[in-house]
Amino acid sequence: MTRIDLVIKNGTIVRSDGVFQVNIHVNNGKIVALTDYSYVPPCDELIDAQGLYVMTGVIEPHLHLRDPSINEREDFESGTKACAAGGITSIVEHPISNPSVHNVDNLKNRIEAVKHKAVVDYGFYGGAGFDNLDEMESLAEAGIMGFKTFLPASPPGRESEFKGLNAKDDGYLYRILENAAKTDIPALFHLEDNTLLNLFEGRIKAKGRLDPMAHIDSRPEICEIVAVAKLLAMAEDTGAKVQLVHMSTDRAVALAKYYRTLGVSISIETCPQYLVLDSSDMDRCGAFAKMNPPLRSKKTQERLWKYVLDGTIDMVVSDHSPFLLEEKERGNENIFDCPPGHPGLDTLLPLMLNEVSKGKLRLEQLSALMAENVARIYRMKQKGKIEIGKDADFVFIDMNQEWVIRAQDMYTKSKGTAKLFEGFVIKGKPVRTILRGTTIMKNGEVMGKPGEGKLLTPSK
Ligand SMILES: [Zn+2]
Repeated sequence: MTRIDLVIKNGTIVRSDGVFQVNIHVNNGKIVALTDYSYVPPCDELIDAQGLYVMTGVIEPHLHLRDPSINEREDFESGTKACAAGGITSIVEHPISNPSVHNVDNLKNRIEAVKHKAVVDYGFYGGAGFDNLDEMESLAEAGIMGFKTFLPASPPGRESEFKGLNAKDDGYLYRILENAAKTDIPALFHLEDNTLLNLFEGRIKAKGRLDPMAHIDSRPEICEIVAVAKLLAMAEDTGAKVQLVHMSTDRAVALAKYYRTLGVSISIETCPQYLVLDSSDMDRCGAFAKMNPPLRSKKTQERLWKYVLDGTIDMVVSDHSPFLLEEKERGNENIFDCPPGHPGLDTLLPLMLNEVSKGKLRLEQLSALMAENVARIYRMKQKGKIEIGKDADFVFIDMNQEWVIRAQDMYTKSKGTAKLFEGFVIKGKPVRTILRGTTIMKNGEVMGKPGEGKLLTPSK
């Protein structure tokens, strides 16, 4: 009998189509067989997953490690270790960096700069902005997973990080979509309408408001809804595949649901912060809860959940955006003085497991929202499901473990700013992460080696 590398026995396998009591056989980093509990072939490593759920590793397609940039905030090693700690085995990294990924040279340089640091598998987006329209086709050919474009203006002082990432106006937005339609990868958009942002922010600042809630009042829901309406109309006209990132309002998602019935290819993200927190948390956390789009009302949050549960929303992602403590603390005096964003990799899966414990949704739905749908949208054929022939990427989940989120236990360098979920009691914990057959986290301790992560490009 042939000896294989690894058998995971007695686990309960979770997939979107059900839970199964099977042993998983792994050889050369791939799943080679799924058998009943009684069969264990000769193997080098035998792991007993009795009492645990085994889900395919989480795929996180929305994070900002930004390496190389201000690496004291985060680098590719610390960021991908936070992934391993949180049950994430693959990522797609956004193009904000210094320099940003807005042409093929910058993409290649970025891969060179981070490849020896990656603890999990990783792919990249490329920027699509008014100032790099001619680079889009070559970026797609070079293997990016998608394009990223911002509708809001670039933050003052960070122009080089955002070069080639900004739409500037509706004419350029249309041209970006025309170019994206010539490729077979999705075009991702940060959707807050810049003209309306200027209007509302101007009004709030004219009143002299600097308090945390001024941030929320300066970016009302209408900014997202109008931006999404405009994008969807242009997507239908141009035939581009679009992705609505970090959706925070139910009405924007409802528009997307309608446009899907017209045949427009649309994928939709939301984040745990919009599902677990609401605008009142801005009072509790101040600058540390500043994010774009901002936290919304309890009513909006409840209505957004409906679209997670009915399958309209495809993905739950972190939008991990690390900053230094002193950068965030600037917002204590004047909320407009600190950057938006917070760390979220260590807590992405745990927060959603807690919602499973509360009975809000099922683990099978999480497998779809956090891996299967993501792999389908980005054409990661080797990832995203516990199935023969796929990569042996797993997260073991203990649904009985109750624990408390503590920033001090996190792997992100930005733990000083991780105040949003500090002290939250969570039921359900990722206790082991396996990447292509190798354990990279066990009981909270990351043992994955930098450089073991492999570059991902869309499958043919
Ligand atoms: Zn983001």
